[in-house]
Amino acid sequence: MMTLAVAAAACSAKAPEPAAPPAAQAQPAADRPYLLERVDDAAVVQVYADGFATLPIREKVLIWHLYQAALAGRDIYYDQRYAHSLEMREVLEEILTHAAGVEPAVLAEIQRYTKLFWLNSGPHNNLTARKFVLKCAPEAFLRAAQAAAGAGARFPLKPGETVEGLVERTRPWFFDPNVDPIVTNKSPGPGKDILASSANNLYVGVTMKDLAGFAERYPLNSRLVKQGGRLTEEVYRVHGRYGDKIATIMGHLGAAVPYATEPMAKALQALVTFYRTGETADREAYDIAWVQDQASPVDTINGFIETYLDPRGMKGAWEALVFYVNREKTEGIRKLAADAQWFEDRMPWDPKYRKPGVTGVVANAIDVVVETGESGPVTPIGINLPNDQRIREQHGSKSVLLSNINEAYDKSSPTAFREEFSWTKEEAERGNRWSAFAGELTTNMHEVIGHGSGRIEERLKGNPATAIKEHYSALEEARADLVGLYFLPDQKLVDLGIVPKESQQDIVLAEYEGYARNALVQLRRIREGAQIEQDHMRSRQLIVRWLMANTKAIEVRERDGKTFYVMIDAGAFRDGVGRLLAEVQRIKAQGDYQAARAMFEAFGISFDPKLRDEVVARVDKLNLPSYSGFVMPKLSPILGADKTITDVTISYPQDLTAQMLEYSGKRR
Ligand SMILES: [Zn+2]
Repeated sequence: MMTLAVAAAACSAKAPEPAAPPAAQAQPAADRPYLLERVDDAAVVQVYADGFATLPIREKVLIWHLYQAALAGRDIYYDQRYAHSLEMREVLEEILTHAAGVEPAVLAEIQRYTKLFWLNSGPHNNLTARKFVLKCAPEAFLRAAQAAAGAGARFPLKPGETVEGLVERTRPWFFDPNVDPIVTNKSPGPGKDILASSANNLYVGVTMKDLAGFAERYPLNSRLVKQGGRLTEEVYRVHGRYGDKIATIMGHLGAAVPYATEPMAKALQALVTFYRTGETADREAYDIAWVQDQASPVDTINGFIETYLDPRGMKGAWEALVFYVNREKTEGIRKLAADAQWFEDRMPWDPKYRKPGVTGVVANAIDVVVETGESGPVTPIGINLPNDQRIREQHGSKSVLLSNINEAYDKSSPTAFREEFSWTKEEAERGNRWSAFAGELTTNMHEVIGHGSGRIEERLKGNPATAIKEHYSALEEARADLVGLYFLPDQKLVDLGIVPKESQQDIVLAEYEGYARNALVQLRRIREGAQIEQDHMRSRQLIVRWLMANTKAIEVRERDGKTFYVMIDAGAFRDGVGRLLAEVQRIKAQGDYQAARAMFEAFGISFDPKLRDEVVARVDKLNLPSYSGFVMPKLSPILGADKTITDVTISYPQDLTAQMLEYSGKRR
């Protein structure tokens, strides 16, 4: 599972925003750029990996090989997402790299479109799943392609095809929003098929009806094709689909093995085996080896992992991440986990629901060096794997929090946002100073001591979700958030050395104020209707509106026709959080569906659409981005006289176009 900052998608939906980089590392320049450019509603942001330079050479070389393996599979995801993506990208990139004779206005439009295309790995938006198109005349696009051809562009022409023929053939892909309009369509409407309505390339000519009675042997790692009435699984493996790319990936993974720790080497070798055979048993062996490697300072995720692209939720989209553990940030998480029982013994709920022998979830705070495929340029902020439920139960899972992505989110987001929704200047300043730190800390508590806490009644047989049904997941997210909010003011955090004593009060204020504001600001994401669907958004709406109704902690105020949620009493806020947490735990422990439903219906689901319209107008006026895409660090090896790698340097391109063209093997 992965957690997105932009879509408030999974577990720690609110981007935990870290504070300044650790003092132990070389201090980066204070004025280095994070926000590089805006393209429509997207922000382009540089991510930095400050700790890389101080890693031992062995780990740098290891990362270098894994980095190459990550880049080698990039085009697999483009192809999985849309069958025409790679051809479209080739046309666009050839025009951009041979642009001298292209009309400036047309070139500007092609550049805008191509940047969005790169950010979204194809012509469909990541957040909305909908197709976006070129906004110039097709004739102007043809003239641009002809000018580029005159300047030496080499287009992906079919035998005997002219540039004119190519532009005509590809025209529906670039220009028609009704051709392949949605990449993943889980609710196409009555009578329509989810596979046929989705434009992705995971199925060809297949509908759900065809799958009745068909046993897939490779549910995760194959494309399913129907031809002449027969279903075929095209397996992703070395002599199968994407075989050439997979062979290159395997080569780089193999080269990494000698530099890896023993458990990591075992996992890499298992991954190579899985890429070779494509067999489920080998994938399971890999998952187990990967999850058993708990201590390596460097790690990678490389393969067909998450299933969000498939409307059936079965086929894995290819992605790769390479990262190292951020020791300083991980230390704080481990301190919380080590003292999980202390927190459990003080949970503000009925003592019979406190768990003896609780262990905190250990997550690593990591810095990514590169992310490709489904995880880049648009990236998650948290990941928990493997997804295979049986392996999770028997062998556990690994969680990572992407620290330097959070840093980049925080440093690139405009402060105007906070100022617009803060009642006073002091509140906005407190947020600017502390919300990053406070947000990261409460997210860690949410994950490490929140989800794992509490006991439920025996008769539920360990499965409260069955009783609480559609409200379970939002209830559980509310519970974990409440644990973080409840313990934030606790002296224990000072004693553990996680929070500086002299700043704790400001940190608590910044978090509580920001949490209250968020219930208002989050409404901008639901531009239609008057109902919240997403579970994390429901849980946060519930908490704030419950506090409004049951405590004096938050006031609704108005000024110049604008609404504000103003946190006025941190003590009352915390007391209220404790009371609500006790009730939420009781509901979970007893599987009280009626109470869960009543609570969400009263506070967590519906909202006033007029208030939303006001929020949307305020946000639009500030021109805030809806999502961010990241420019990754660039690695370069330094070779000795005998061609062995003597060092690996890291640099930051600060230029999306340059990086994307480099990845494609092109130059401007
Ligand atoms: Zn959660």
